[in-house]
Amino acid sequence: MEELTCVIIGGGHAGLQAAKALLNVSKELQGSRRLRLILIDKQPYHVRKVLLFRPAVGEEDITIPLAKLFPDDVQVIQGTATKVDGGKKRLLVRDANGNETSMPYDLLIAAIGSTVRQPAPVQGGIALTGLESAAAIRERWRSNMRRAAGEPGGAERLRLMSAAVAGAGISGVETSAELAHAMREEAAALGLDPRAVKVYLINAHDRLFQEGPAKVGRKLERLLTDSGVTVLHRRKALQESDGRLWFESGEPLPVGLSIWALGLEPNPALRSIGLPLTPEGRVLVDACYRVHGMAGVYSIGDCAGIVDPVSGRPDGMTCKEGSMQAIRLGKIVTADLQGLPAPSHKAVMDFFCIGLGPNRGLVWTRKWGLDMIMTGKLAWNLKKWVWNHASLLQ
Ligand SMILES: Cc1cc2nc3c(=O)[nH]c(=O)nc-3n(C[C@H](O)[C@H](O)[C@H](O)COP(=O)(O)OP(=O)(O)OC[C@H]3O[C@@H](n4cnc5c(N)ncnc54)[C@H](O)[C@@H]3O)c2cc1C
Repeated sequence: MEELTCVIIGGGHAGLQAAKALLNVSKELQGSRRLRLILIDKQPYHVRKVLLFRPAVGEEDITIPLAKLFPDDVQVIQGTATKVDGGKKRLLVRDANGNETSMPYDLLIAAIGSTVRQPAPVQGGIALTGLESAAAIRERWRSNMRRAAGEPGGAERLRLMSAAVAGAGISGVETSAELAHAMREEAAALGLDPRAVKVYLINAHDRLFQEGPAKVGRKLERLLTDSGVTVLHRRKALQESDGRLWFESGEPLPVGLSIWALGLEPNPALRSIGLPLTPEGRVLVDACYRVHGMAGVYSIGDCAGIVDPVSGRPDGMTCKEGSMQAIRLGKIVTADLQGLPAPSHKAVMDFFCIGLGPNRGLVWTRKWGLDMIMTGKLAWNLKKWVWNHASLLQ
């Protein structure tokens, strides 16, 4: 039986789902060929990126060792992919000691994802970009709360009990809700009045939830208000300095901590890895995720510039998009290996699941032109299922 080496770069949500989908390809090929799967990631573990706000508010470990997820059937290698040589079908991989190895592949899946947009260092505050910054955020607000407990009262105590999240996308919404919950609990434990905790969500737009209808944005805002978050619309935060968050216009806001949640951008490493890119910096692929001009190379997830062939709309950077792409990729690879027509990309339906602190959430989807909204514990349970599913935990 012929064995083909299939290398997946990136053990994020899309890479994991791709590995799962590709495990089935050998079965589909019914003994004619077999895929040997290799998963490469910079880290030995998968980071449950959708839960990044959790270590910012508590001690939760949001990593899973990749070898634990694929104990037998996928070879896991820790290393950074630095260059794809499409002509020779080889991938350069740098290990933790800086040694570079050239690895042959028959099939290559690029799923190196995205990074969180960073403000300039002069803008102060902390961007929620990864595990280290999440820990720094946690340390800062906890130490602020302890300092607040030592203050006799007044404006300084209130400032120390305040935080702002600049950027009101879904990640900013979820972070502010979790933070308000955690800060209130901490205040109560320290003998402070939890009602004095203020968490501001700074929104540059007129309303929340630009991805869906205005009424869902309003509902989301009401739920956030109930959770202790104050939403400030039409405000552009510029800089945190001297214990204040400064805006493009208007009065500065006294806060003990500013968190930036500025959204995602394609992994900057794409610029040097040797794959063709779209003007937005995502990998240039066709409707079957095949990388232009590179035989046997595919790309999915946040790093891929996947466009709905019907509407011309680019896929967003979310787990649901990556998961559906991965499932389809399994079918595409099977078809390509059999010389059959491959299924083409289809956009996912509108579906958003937003966590609003423990046991609270909001789900919105649109079907047959109708808006369906679910809130409360049910929405929270669905959200938890989605989080777990995205990391192969069910
Ligand atoms: C704070 C936050 C909250 C979010 N919340 C949600 C949410 O609620 N719902 C939702 O659907 N989406 C959410 N997202 C978006 C979601 O996390 C991404 O869409 C998803 O992680 C994309 O998966 P991916 O596998 O394409 O990329 P990534 O998750 O970015 O994974 C890329 C992987 O590639 C590895 N890698 C990168 N470069 C290399 C290299 N050169 N060599 C080897 N390995 C490399 C990385 O270590 C990483 O493991 C959130 C994102 C953030 C940051």
